[in-house]
Amino acid sequence: MKASNRRAFMFTMMVGGGVLAASRASGQSPAPVATETDPQASALGYKTDGSKVDPARYPQHQAAQVCHGCTFFQGKPDDAMAPCLLLGGKQVAGQGWCMAWAKKA
Ligand code: SF4
Repeated sequence: MKASNRRAFMFTMMVGGGVLAASRASGQSPAPVATETDPQASALGYKTDGSKVDPARYPQHQAAQVCHGCTFFQGKPDDAMAPCLLLGGKQVAGQGWCMAWAKKA
């Protein structure tokens, strides 16, 4: 290997390694998961399983209302979990529900 080729190879390896390290360092970890006992979630009656909503306490709840179909759900329709804008970006269950449910447009 010629000296200039060796230098180019070493430069490529150093830059490539730096880019890889930088991309790993900036990798975003997933948002924390909302629990039913989080103060904000609890205040909204959040349930991770919409079928467990107490109808006596939340008579407005309908079975078809789940986080997947809520305007505040930031995931795709088949995502099991996704951030909720109303719960500070914490992840909520796609099959969850809370009293702030609003039909996605
Ligand atoms: Fe689910 Fe919508 Fe309530 Fe967020 S605001 S927890 S997406 S029903």
